[in-house]
Amino acid sequence: SENFSNFGQRLCMGSGIEELMDDLGNALVNGGPDTKMLGGGQPAHIPEVNALWRRRMEEILSSPGGMEKMLANYDPPRGNPIFLESIAQLFRENFGWDISAKNIAITAGGQTAFFFLFNALAGEFKDGSKKKILLPLVPEYIGYSNQSVGSDIFRAVKPMIEKIGEHDFKYRVDFDNLNVDDDIAAICVSRPTNPTGNVLTDNEIAKLRALADEKGIPLIIDNAYGAPFPNIIFTEATPVWNDNIVLTLSLSKIGLPGTRTGIVIAREEIAAAVSSMSAIVGLANGNVGQQIMQPLVESGEILKLSNEVVKPFYVEKSRQARAWVEEAFDPELPYRVHLSEGALFLWLWFEDLPITTAELYERLKKRGVLVVSGHYFFFGLEDESWQHRHECIRMTYTMDERTVQGGIQIIAEEVAAAYAGK
Ligand code: PLP
Repeated sequence: SENFSNFGQRLCMGSGIEELMDDLGNALVNGGPDTKMLGGGQPAHIPEVNALWRRRMEEILSSPGGMEKMLANYDPPRGNPIFLESIAQLFRENFGWDISAKNIAITAGGQTAFFFLFNALAGEFKDGSKKKILLPLVPEYIGYSNQSVGSDIFRAVKPMIEKIGEHDFKYRVDFDNLNVDDDIAAICVSRPTNPTGNVLTDNEIAKLRALADEKGIPLIIDNAYGAPFPNIIFTEATPVWNDNIVLTLSLSKIGLPGTRTGIVIAREEIAAAVSSMSAIVGLANGNVGQQIMQPLVESGEILKLSNEVVKPFYVEKSRQARAWVEEAFDPELPYRVHLSEGALFLWLWFEDLPITTAELYERLKKRGVLVVSGHYFFFGLEDESWQHRHECIRMTYTMDERTVQGGIQIIAEEVAAAYAGK
């Protein structure tokens, strides 16, 4: 509406991520028994993990003043000081990073951290110049795409596509076409990547880090699925940090999305900036996730939980979903699946599909299967004509067997029909 400001025009009028979270939330609340929700980033309910949250809640309720501290107090804007110290200690002891609580700030989920970081680092500057966030590899996380309060702030680069065997593939950063111009404010990647399950190799990260250092700009690494927690990562990938890296973590994918807890690790100036933004936008963050998690961080139990419960659970889910794809799809069709190296999704590519994936999404929805059309994830790209962006879908594999296997079966049927010109 015209009653909204420029800020309002950008943030009040709906977005891909809003539709997605609406679909997801509503399907969880009142989805019919036949809805196959393969669309969102909802982590699985792992019984062992939920049992741990229950244990922690009971400990909090039975400890003197525990509940009151959790529910009846405001935290400082930066986060609970004891939690911040435990996080700093975890990374000092396990990775040798030279960080203290001053390098950390809590946000209302990783999502809010990105809103703060992108808008503080990029956009319009005092001298009138405009700076952008460089996404060295799209497809990239849909949740970033509408976050700018000013003009468009993303510049994205197409990946190299490595075809592997008959039905697999992997994206790689195309360093030859990656120009870190002077109007780039920061480089940003999710690792593991939502939507593809790609994990940038240590070598790719080292090169990006060198480029960022050379330009004196931050490299933002979105570690929502990464090591050391939740550790939904199936390849070897070393967590890295230095003064120039802004690392974001989250308690969502280990199983506490309802607590909305994000963690930013950055040089002191940036961590302080995030804390300032939290104060202005929300006074303080929620206490519950930090309170549940603090002793588990202090004791290192969070690492054990990630390695011994969460990761193996998703390794098996991913393997199973990939096997069902193999079973359901006609091997003659030119379908490909991105290597599932982490996160909660399979990313399917249907080369030369006669219909767009936006159309495929509609056909699947009619049959009760919700996926996400891949075109949403290619924002910030200038090349509108690149067909690949209309040939991919993302499906979440975290749901129960009946939902995932049944959903894959229907996807295979609809894709076969589309290739057959129906
Ligand atoms: N980053 C990535 C890559 C994600 O997939 C998500 C959630 O799906 C987020 C950040 C934000 O998650 P949260 O705000 O729950 O921490």
